[in-house]
Amino acid sequence: MAYLASPYKTAEIVRKYDFAFRKKFGQNFLIDPSVLEDIMDAAGITKDDTVLEIGPGIGTMTQYLAERAGKVIAVEIDSALIPILKDTLSEYDNVKVINDDILKLDINKLAQEEAGGKPFKVAANLPYYITTPIIMELLEKNVPLESITIMVQKEVAARMMTGPGSKDYGALSLAVQYYCRPEIVTEAGPQCFMPRPAVSSTVIKLERYGDLPVKPEDPEYMFKLIRASFNHRRKTLANGLSNDASLKLSREQVTEALGKMGLKEDIRGEKLTLEQFAELSGILGQQSVN
Ligand code: SAM
Repeated sequence: MAYLASPYKTAEIVRKYDFAFRKKFGQNFLIDPSVLEDIMDAAGITKDDTVLEIGPGIGTMTQYLAERAGKVIAVEIDSALIPILKDTLSEYDNVKVINDDILKLDINKLAQEEAGGKPFKVAANLPYYITTPIIMELLEKNVPLESITIMVQKEVAARMMTGPGSKDYGALSLAVQYYCRPEIVTEAGPQCFMPRPAVSSTVIKLERYGDLPVKPEDPEYMFKLIRASFNHRRKTLANGLSNDASLKLSREQVTEALGKMGLKEDIRGEKLTLEQFAELSGILGQQSVN
């Protein structure tokens, strides 16, 4: 089977199987081989690696992964694509296609079964409607992984890269930067896909830290504070956190903690660095009434 990453070859497969693109599954297939080469270079896949691909589509990226990795596990929700994948990936004996919703799979169990719990790599041209839940699932469930190299909407990549003070800064930025070192790999315009999406895309690599550089006493509590801070983005941090019923914090407790950290009492959450959220959670964690 020739490579699928061309407008001609992709159209041919679509015609052959009378495949109807489903917008609700975010189906925009890659047709630009140079973008795929960039993804492969960044992901640094070797025969020692097991790779999890989320949403293989017709198998365009899967072909590249299968040639480089020891094993590829490809999870595809759309059952109409399964016979197509069987055909387009027939030459490779190191690919396992699973017809399921990635958000419903127990990825830790999958990692155990398929890679013996050894850290694996994730590579994907993600369906954009579930980018954030997928990333949060991979990071927060402590799935054993080395890196995530993914195509995402340009604006989402900006949110993952940015720091305090920017309008893009939020819970996703902090979660990504707590667990990983993010790096932009390349940009991909709408012309790199079939059908063309309305948005521009970016490939980003998230390399998971072996040793986390920021170490809050209770990471779960820190993320609770972070979520509450950004739920009430326009409020000051003192108002936002004290109005959040689940935290059970008074305005005075928050103001006092901010004072201890040398921060103004009217500061907003979007101005705090990850280190400052870790410090704040250390102070407030001892005070909150459970
Ligand atoms: N990897 C292919 C490529 O680059 O050409 C296809 C990428 S396309 C942007 C996203 C793929 O994810 C589609 O094949 C879609 O059916 C699949 N998908 C959407 N939601 C999914 C889910 N919840 N679980 C698994 N796959 C999903």
